[in-house]
Amino acid sequence: MLTLEKRSPYEIAQEQFDLAAEFMGLEEDLRAILRVPKRELTVNFPVRMDDGTVKSFIGFRVQHNNARGPGKGGIRYHPDVSLDEVRALAMWMTWKCGVVNIPFGGAKGGVVVDPTELSLRELENLTRRFATEISPLLGADGDIPAPDVNTNQQIMAWLMDTISMHHGHLESAITTGKPLGLGGSLGRSDATGRGVSFTVAQAAKFLGLDLDDAPTVVQGFGNVGSISALMLHDLGCKIIAVSDVNGGIYNPNGIDPHAVVKHMKKTRTVVDFPGVERVTNEELLELPCDILVPAALEEQITGMNAPRIRPKIIAEGANGPTTPEADKILYENGVFVIPDILANAGGVTVSYFEWVQDLQSFFWDEDEINKRLKQVMDASFHAVNERAQAHKIPLRLAANILAIERVAEATRLRGIYP
Ligand code: NAD
Repeated sequence: MLTLEKRSPYEIAQEQFDLAAEFMGLEEDLRAILRVPKRELTVNFPVRMDDGTVKSFIGFRVQHNNARGPGKGGIRYHPDVSLDEVRALAMWMTWKCGVVNIPFGGAKGGVVVDPTELSLRELENLTRRFATEISPLLGADGDIPAPDVNTNQQIMAWLMDTISMHHGHLESAITTGKPLGLGGSLGRSDATGRGVSFTVAQAAKFLGLDLDDAPTVVQGFGNVGSISALMLHDLGCKIIAVSDVNGGIYNPNGIDPHAVVKHMKKTRTVVDFPGVERVTNEELLELPCDILVPAALEEQITGMNAPRIRPKIIAEGANGPTTPEADKILYENGVFVIPDILANAGGVTVSYFEWVQDLQSFFWDEDEINKRLKQVMDASFHAVNERAQAHKIPLRLAANILAIERVAEATRLRGIYP
């Protein structure tokens, strides 16, 4: 039966896990271990504002699993951040690292804040204090943050500098997504969108879809959305609509994403881009197209709108954009959904390359990074797709099974301590 009530991302992540665990016949004790986070830290902390007042903020760092390596996952600054959202994102990170087979577990962090309301100095104060509060969990071999919604290279630099100050020496491998001048990796800032485009290219090949002029819609025009649009444009796709938090723009004859990026630099939004129709974010998702890339937030494609969303391919740039109810409808309608833990795994893959380079103090050139990223993404796509076709199941279920198998194997081999 179709249920349309709103659930938290964590409930959805657990439902997806249960589905995979049931399909693969996972032992009960492993189910109990893997369906909940290993560690959760909630912090309340004060920040001195520019006008001299002190404001209190709440933040979270959750480590879902570290059976295969240190916890890895971004830090999000958003007014809607909640512990349940961070738990879901941490769990999805575990499976994502499992799908692309890199030696990391899953973690995530967030602060309940609208960063557009802070000055640069307040943002730095908040970041340094939050880094200090969650520092007991962080470490190059323990838990390694990265950028996520509303966080960026500068925030990663402040975070890394804060931990380095505590330790009395540079700790560059404690975070990824850093600026190049601080041990960041070439190719990291484009990696998630580049990875999205690699998976779309493989899916199109599998489906026999010609990407030349293929109408393409992208929701969200931040790091992931804008780079996905640029890379898909390079592959020949015709970008017909993009959006940000303020709304969307649409032109069935095509929009040049390079021009939108330039426009964004001046106005900080896509909505007043010239020569286009305005659409809402809801309307944008339902536009007729071949390829849809949701690259904003969770729960955008639900049981309510999924019947009207009919692209050939959905590549999930965002984490958790599709609910389980929507998944069923899309699968029945023959939409080829490349799940988040595969489609957007390019970011964590190059974060892994950044961490390896930092630990070795030996840096690779950009061609090397992009070549290795393509190898990982293509191999992961094929592993997931072969599993999906062999069992006649959706790619999300196949990806979850593949990842859970790897994490379960590591857990069995390590045994239960003591
Ligand atoms: P970002 O902050 O750079 O961009 C977010 C974009 O979404 C912005 O354009 C914003 O205006 C838009 N947006 C926010 N709320 C919206 C709403 N309600 N409707 C429509 N658009 C909205 O963030 P990002 O790093 O690009 O992350 C986007 C998604 O991709 C998130 O789900 C994130 O977890 C996921 N992701 C990011 C990375 C990464 O490397 N940055 C990696 C994997 C997954």
